[in-house]
Amino acid sequence: MNMKLLVIGFDGATFDLIEPFSKKGILPHISRLIAQGVSTPLISVIPPVSAPAWTSLVTGKNPGKHNIYGFQDKDGRVVNSTFRKSKALWNLLDEHGKRSIAINIPMTSPPERINGIIKSGILTPHERGFSGRFQIDKESLMEKEKALPKMFQWEINQTEKALKILKKEKWDLFFTVYHLSDFVPTIYWNYMDKTHPHYRADDTLSTAVEDAYKVLDDILGRYLSCVDSQTCVVVVSDHGMGPSKKVFNINEWLRREGFLDIRTLTFEKVLSPEKVTGLIKHHAIIKRFVLLLPDFLQKKGYKMVFSRSKDVLSRIHPESRAYAFSHAHFASIWLRKKCDGTLAEIEKRIQDLKDPDTGEPIITRVYRKDQLFHGPWVDNAPDLIVEAIPHYSIRSQRIGTLFSEPLQSGDHRMNGIFIASGPPVKTGILKEHSIFDVCPTLLTLLGLPVPSDMDGCVMNIFKKEVPIKEAEESQIEYHQKVYSKEEEETIRERLSALGYFD
Ligand SMILES: [Zn+2]
Repeated sequence: MNMKLLVIGFDGATFDLIEPFSKKGILPHISRLIAQGVSTPLISVIPPVSAPAWTSLVTGKNPGKHNIYGFQDKDGRVVNSTFRKSKALWNLLDEHGKRSIAINIPMTSPPERINGIIKSGILTPHERGFSGRFQIDKESLMEKEKALPKMFQWEINQTEKALKILKKEKWDLFFTVYHLSDFVPTIYWNYMDKTHPHYRADDTLSTAVEDAYKVLDDILGRYLSCVDSQTCVVVVSDHGMGPSKKVFNINEWLRREGFLDIRTLTFEKVLSPEKVTGLIKHHAIIKRFVLLLPDFLQKKGYKMVFSRSKDVLSRIHPESRAYAFSHAHFASIWLRKKCDGTLAEIEKRIQDLKDPDTGEPIITRVYRKDQLFHGPWVDNAPDLIVEAIPHYSIRSQRIGTLFSEPLQSGDHRMNGIFIASGPPVKTGILKEHSIFDVCPTLLTLLGLPVPSDMDGCVMNIFKKEVPIKEAEESQIEYHQKVYSKEEEETIRERLSALGYFD
């Protein structure tokens, strides 16, 4: 097989939403691809967040081999492409003289030099990148009606730029990612879901999530009209989405149980994010006043309340035994001094934790690192990962209260999507696959060998049996570039409104 491959990533896209929207007939392009090709739910990596998930998708490996366990490493540094210890799809194409265009894929900043083009998108520490200025933070908080069309337009603008590149350049692989399918359900889930505890009836916003999927379906249609029938088309996501109903603050729990000693900030007690959001939501005068403030003051206030730059690590007492970072309904716990007794103690006590409102336990699984990860970089993994019932979002930055109201009404789930269509691809629905299976499958579609150290397998998507060639291992090591404090701050600020750094 020797063909061109177009991959469109819809961050956070899930069949839980695609199926009902598709039945309504509002997603003609996605529905057609599903009908003509192969589709399967794609089980994400633990934790199911963009940084490790997209990295696993483009390397075919678990984090123990690629070294990306979250947006931050154990020292709290914001990770970037130079932390990756495995070759990605584009490096492998490069070795075979094939040309890749990779646009907006998380964890590609700073961009590597390859045969082709990498444009690194929203996790880039400056605002003049391919994505342009990104300002969802304060707008999504204050004026949800106004933020929505801006987000839509932002993705449409990206498409214009990407299509120009697609038409002008030569490529064997064109791979681009859109974030609307993550951002909009994160912020607007409670407007469509009547069973959500924070359901809000609103005529304009009730279809926000549906409208976002429509925009993405239109965008997909634009791409499809630019490629010939010989091109293979794949639509993927890195994880799914679902409602977030309550927040469990993991570091407050570690503090109360005596594992963590941490200094609390005064404004944390007076101006908690929940209080500020509540004030703005329920008092029109306060909202109007805030909106009248000059831009820089709004930004400053926002930063103070939401993207607390003094994160957990900078505030903990050196004698603390453990601390955590969080992602969706998972938390990564690191021990400051390796000690089996402490691990066992945390494991046992956290499983006894109950929601005071329901009296039910909320933690469903606790994993030690070697149960989830394997490979040369396992030492950098968290010592424990805890998993909660999915509608509990776990957060790590909030101290002072064990459970709180969610600031966003949607959060990540484990089930993403994989859809493929093209001349060699059969028709049908497959049983679920792992996100590790995407890279070996795409390499096989391109007629390239699969490195022997990949964790995934080639999916059975082909009409005829295809030879699967094996290649040598695909480890790589870059000179690690650490972002400056300012660069880290830009990224944190941009994404904290979406719950990425909390
Ligand atoms: Zn994502």
